[in-house]
Amino acid sequence: MHTGRCLCGAVHFSASDVESQYHACHCGMCRRWGGSPMFAVPAESVAFSGTENLARYKSSQWAERGFCRLCGSHLFYYLAPAEQYFMAVGTFDDPTPFALSREIFVDHKPADYSFAGDLERWTEAQTLAHFSSNDEDG
Ligand SMILES: [Zn+2]
Ligand SMILES: [Zn+2]
Repeated sequence: MHTGRCLCGAVHFSASDVESQYHACHCGMCRRWGGSPMFAVPAESVAFSGTENLARYKSSQWAERGFCRLCGSHLFYYLAPAEQYFMAVGTFDDPTPFALSREIFVDHKPADYSFAGDLERWTEAQTLAHFSSNDEDG
């Protein structure tokens, strides 16, 4: 069982099934939302406490972005058609089980920084092809 919380502690979550590898999303919406790329890890069976302070912003036809109403911590991207959570890696109490393995929307990445290492790098077209036509980012 993995647990995590927002900065102020008003919202906690647990997830019983979290993948070991996470991605960095360089899409314009993630960068605007967080001010930087979003590090997100796919998770199943996610449960929240303090939901009165958990806001869900419908950022597109197919996705919601969750954050704490009190401190503004970004907690997840939720892909509605797949009922799939992508939890913000930095919100886990213990992030050590997770490793960055992939960049997505890499053709949207600004030129002034890059991540080192032998990562998978998917363009927008490759990302959309992987997640299928309904599952694009947003
Ligand atoms: Zn908070
Ligand atoms: Zn994104």
